[in-house]
Amino acid sequence: MSSSSSQIQVRVLPEEVGDPEVLRAAVNRQLRKQGKAPLGQEDEPRILRQSWDARRRPVQAQLLVDWGEEKVPSTWSWSKLPDDAPSVVVVGAGPAGLYAALECIQLGVRPVVLERGKDVRARRRDLAKLNREHLVNPESNYCFGEGGAGTYSDGKLYTRSKKRGDIREALEWLVAHGADPHILVESHPHIGTNRLPAVVTAMRETVEASGGVVHFDTRVTGLVREKGRCAGVKAGDHIFRGEAVVLATGHSARDVFHMMVEEGLEVEAKPFALGVRVEHPQGWVDEVQYHGETVECRLPATAWCAKWRGAGCTVFACALEASWRRAPHLLAKS
Ligand SMILES: Cc1cc2nc3c(=O)[nH]c(=O)nc-3n(C[C@H](O)[C@H](O)[C@H](O)COP(=O)(O)OP(=O)(O)OC[C@H]3O[C@@H](n4cnc5c(N)ncnc54)[C@H](O)[C@@H]3O)c2cc1C
Repeated sequence: MSSSSSQIQVRVLPEEVGDPEVLRAAVNRQLRKQGKAPLGQEDEPRILRQSWDARRRPVQAQLLVDWGEEKVPSTWSWSKLPDDAPSVVVVGAGPAGLYAALECIQLGVRPVVLERGKDVRARRRDLAKLNREHLVNPESNYCFGEGGAGTYSDGKLYTRSKKRGDIREALEWLVAHGADPHILVESHPHIGTNRLPAVVTAMRETVEASGGVVHFDTRVTGLVREKGRCAGVKAGDHIFRGEAVVLATGHSARDVFHMMVEEGLEVEAKPFALGVRVEHPQGWVDEVQYHGETVECRLPATAWCAKWRGAGCTVFACALEASWRRAPHLLAKS
């Protein structure tokens, strides 16, 4: 008799993850413990979520597994917009702007994306100049340009925030544009520094293929306001009109805050937040978190999080940087 469709938590050793027989045996063991019927012949256990339990030795993979009728996985596509689709101006091609543009297309609206910086490949050349010659291009740097502020970082995708609802759809859109599907099950997913620019490019190509428009080297300098509503934006001498304007300019564009104040808009400051980058050899953290277990090939680079709650403020420190493992020669420099 088949066990009815359900979910269960099981633990397996790291090297056993991906072995369907071990997974089946682990599920059956757990079902037996709970006094339930084992899986039927036709039941294929599937991993829904994977995390690591490093509290004791040996370190184990903790898996949330289900079986039974498979839910049809969401497939995403962005259709070609009709010629008469209404337009919306999206300012900024960071994560917020790119997602806004893709969402517009889902809603049958043509996004006109205006980005002050360059496309993600050309931007890399400006970063090389910045790093080698210390020359900062004010419009194309670590903060400005296609992909936005975190484009050349690790691409961490998890959030401590619980109040923003389900983020699975956001992750699925990344997978639809080339991110590793494993991000859908990993509890601390990250895209990876080397893959993120390609994912960003693919998102922009989707926008353009669907009939959206993307203008680089286009810095928005003012708003067009008619009859009490925002009817577009100014970028130097150019005017871009739309049914609405989405300002997705991030928190580095101080000129945009000044522009909004000059336009007489209400601007509200967010609470103070400061980010500091601390680098340390991945091996140290792995050693502590994994109790000295050998991690090569078995375990992922570990993440850590420290939290301090003081009078009126909370300090979080979190890290995940897998590249150290792959570049051990860098450890010597740290
Ligand atoms: C070094 C670094 C590493 C990070 N790593 C991560 C990480 O791993 N995971 C994570 O989740 N978050 C990370 N973040 C934070 C993340 O980058 C931001 O939360 C995110 O980029 C905010 O997205 P956004 O689209 O709102 O703004 P931004 O990314 O700032 O994008 C705004 C865009 O608007 C453009 N723009 C600004 N003004 C104008 C204008 N006047 N006209 C036209 N275009 C304009 C900018 O050029 C930019 O492309 C990191 C940030 C930094 C700086």
